[in-house]
Amino acid sequence: MSNNHSTKNAGKSLIIPIFIVNSGCPHRCIFCNQKITAGNHPREIDRSYLETEVNSYLNWNKDKTRRVEIAFYGGSFTGMDESRQENLLSWAQSYIRAGIVNSIRVSTRPDYISPGILAFLRQYNVTTVEIGAQSFVDDVLLFAQRGHNAAETIAAIRLLKKENFQTGLHLMAGLPHDTKEGFVYSLEKTIELQPDMARIHPVVVFSGTTLASEFERGNYRPLELGEAVSLCGLAHEKLSAAGIRVIRTGLHWTKEMNNDNAVLAGPLHPAFGSLVLSSIFYEKTLKLLRKTPPDTKEIIFLLNRQDVSSFHGLKNNNISSIKKLYPQAVIKVRTPAKQKRGVISVTTDQERIFTTSIPGII
Ligand code: SF4
Repeated sequence: MSNNHSTKNAGKSLIIPIFIVNSGCPHRCIFCNQKITAGNHPREIDRSYLETEVNSYLNWNKDKTRRVEIAFYGGSFTGMDESRQENLLSWAQSYIRAGIVNSIRVSTRPDYISPGILAFLRQYNVTTVEIGAQSFVDDVLLFAQRGHNAAETIAAIRLLKKENFQTGLHLMAGLPHDTKEGFVYSLEKTIELQPDMARIHPVVVFSGTTLASEFERGNYRPLELGEAVSLCGLAHEKLSAAGIRVIRTGLHWTKEMNNDNAVLAGPLHPAFGSLVLSSIFYEKTLKLLRKTPPDTKEIIFLLNRQDVSSFHGLKNNNISSIKKLYPQAVIKVRTPAKQKRGVISVTTDQERIFTTSIPGII
């Protein structure tokens, strides 16, 4: 199994990723090095490779009641020759006909979506299309050499929704020439479009990219880790509150990222998604405690068992910060069975009880 990053991405579905490594891309966007971000995969996928990958995931999967989806990631699927698309889709579809896999998803560029393309995908049980939008600011898209503008992303998502496809949208934080305001504008546009799901990750400077040269010339400064966590946390909160499922924050860690000189700079962290969740839990907890006096003697947090590690934060950072604010308090964490995911409740020795909930924690 070459990659496990998507198995937990869509709730209880099992997603089997097949990487097509830049296939179908008309050129290279300035930040993109799929050999590092997707990992080492063959350039040409033949039937035996696809079946080996799919079977390996199916054998590994213990819960046979899960929905199973084969996903073609890592390039612009609908930009490939139609015969190549047909081969891949028909091999994947044989699993659907056998009743083993439920559907297929692809990721592609917004300018490679048209009524004809969607009719073609539908024939092969493609039900979900993920679109690389990255930003809705045209100047940012231009500088990133994306080769499309925001209007094309809007048109693509609208058409996909009209044709009843499930939609995913990818956004990036920290693109060259972008600002916090620009990123928030992209979030607002995303909310207007209402895709079913979103992925957000910060820009990292990988070797072999145009961005690497820009960085080396001093023309680009990546986000600090803290800035990236905060922007992605903001995105998670805003999109989740608007009913858009955030299925990933941060890049999947590949072994290629460990290679010398693969990563020049940028907010890359193996547990980036956990950092984002921890920061959201911490901010929500601070708001919950805003009327709790600093001399409080006992603070008891009630959480769902699965939220405890996000609440504690990496290396217990969140708890240490709360302890600094309440130096006299004994801090306890309890996990009552009925506590829902994403809900933080607090009781204190002054019998104050507060509850808050974080949308999008599933
Ligand atoms: S379209 Fe996507 S996969 Fe292709 S070069 Fe640009 S970012 Fe990379």
